[in-house]
Amino acid sequence: MKIDAFKVAHIFREMADFLSIKGENPFRVRAYQKAADALEHLSGDLEILYHQGKLQGITGIGKGMLEKIETILETGKLPAYEELKKEIPEGLRELLFIPEMGPKTVKVIYEKGNVKNIEDLEKFVQSHKLRNLPGMGAKTEENILRGIKLYRSSKGRILLGKALPLAEKVIAELKNSVSSYIEKISPAGSLRRGKETIGDIDILVSSSNSSPIMDAFTNFSFVEGVLAKGKTKSSVLTNDGLQIDLRVVSPDSFGAALQYFTGSKSHNINLRERAIRKGLKINEYGVFTQKGEKLAGKNEEDVYASLSLPLIPPELREDRGEIEAGEKGKIPNLLKEGEIKGDLHIHTKASDGANSIKELIEKAKQKGYEYIAITDHSASLKIAGGLSGDRLLQQINQIKEINSHLQGFKVFAGSEVDIKKDGNLDYPDELLQKLDIVIAAVHTSLKQNKKTMTNRIIKALRNPFVRIFAHPTGRLLGEREASSIDLDKVLQVAKEENIWIEINAQPQRLDLTDLWIKEAKKRNIKLVINTDAHHLGNLDFMPFGVITARRGWLEKVNVVNTLPLRDFLTFLSL
Ligand SMILES: [Zn+2]
Ligand SMILES: [Zn+2]
Repeated sequence: MKIDAFKVAHIFREMADFLSIKGENPFRVRAYQKAADALEHLSGDLEILYHQGKLQGITGIGKGMLEKIETILETGKLPAYEELKKEIPEGLRELLFIPEMGPKTVKVIYEKGNVKNIEDLEKFVQSHKLRNLPGMGAKTEENILRGIKLYRSSKGRILLGKALPLAEKVIAELKNSVSSYIEKISPAGSLRRGKETIGDIDILVSSSNSSPIMDAFTNFSFVEGVLAKGKTKSSVLTNDGLQIDLRVVSPDSFGAALQYFTGSKSHNINLRERAIRKGLKINEYGVFTQKGEKLAGKNEEDVYASLSLPLIPPELREDRGEIEAGEKGKIPNLLKEGEIKGDLHIHTKASDGANSIKELIEKAKQKGYEYIAITDHSASLKIAGGLSGDRLLQQINQIKEINSHLQGFKVFAGSEVDIKKDGNLDYPDELLQKLDIVIAAVHTSLKQNKKTMTNRIIKALRNPFVRIFAHPTGRLLGEREASSIDLDKVLQVAKEENIWIEINAQPQRLDLTDLWIKEAKKRNIKLVINTDAHHLGNLDFMPFGVITARRGWLEKVNVVNTLPLRDFLTFLSL
């Protein structure tokens, strides 16, 4: 069996979890995680790179990790891993995926309560046995039960960041293999609306001959099993366990079907009621008069036009006022990906990133950007390689030197400064003053109560040197709930202090969320879309941030990193 980078990365991730449950040194745990990160971002085939001796020197893969990779490649196994697997019950690792469950808790309840899996855990907590353990109480019980619920509800949902590339791949392969039968093809459903997580992936094709399309679709190499195969609809399961549904409709109803299957449900209900008021009927085949005469169906524009509406962008179709806005001709001119001119939250290998500033500049230039900000972690975040004050000063000088050789492109010296428990920032003002861009962010004590957390953030945002508030709620989809924060108050302060609120484009974050983005826009607060890249490839997360911004009704003018360099410099100095 061929061993690829993802298989080795998977072993390393499990190792990291096993070791953390055993209470091993966090730096050892981190070494496995970093190596897994590096492997998942490898450009090129692992075995080939190994034989060429090119694995040495890759950031994140130190000497110890390299030896382990070699062992796996040569023997197909890692002895330490095999042993831990025997030692640690299978379901125990899954407990780590439950929000509110850290390795320490997992260890204690396993040792003291013989809890080996999620079902055990649920019973253990419900029978109030947990609260007898040291450091646990009624509040922990409540948190863990909520965590179990969150975990179960997110299981089976796919991140937008995973679903979208997969849908694009399916579409590309269909175009490749049966293009002559395809008239039009598009994603549909919540994927097309750009929701942060998606149930099943829906793809819609317009064609007058569906058989060759269905044959090709159900035989793709990544298809693990065929759930259903028909003339109009087929469903497959991929080898990642994801479900893809493909519908083929006739060209004269493609627009109506695309509208219908894009949803959302409440958008469609609102639209249907509008049709009824006009004496019309709308369904997945078209828009019809009472007498059955077809007014529209071939394309979406006509479907909306027949209801006296402009084409409503899919991201807005959540019944949040878009139909009313359409009626008044007030659909926003939504932000486009190509309008982004820079990325202002990027880590380098100075902290927990994988690349050098120069590598990042090259990639950013390829994307057509005019500027980036380097924002490594601050001193107290030791686990993420946070920079001491001296190292930050060195980096500022390094960036000055780099900028002196650049034309038409600028690197801003920044930092992602930790907001400490008490709301103080992790660097003194004298140091913050030397930076072009200061990002403030919460990374520790995420479970403070609402009032403490809100005051903590507000205190940080009042610091005159802070420009950006990053990943505001701290959520990690399917893994960690948003911190409890009075966002209403935080936005108020952001407005007063001219703080830019970040839309973090990492698929697991997408934070700030769409509804709050819309609220921020209403209050005329500036937003910034950043990838928070830790690897070159992460710079490609930008589209997910842009889609989320569109779901929050943002236009170019609301987003500061759409400004060309010259205007951005002016704006930054305000
Ligand atoms: Zn952060
Ligand atoms: Zn960051």
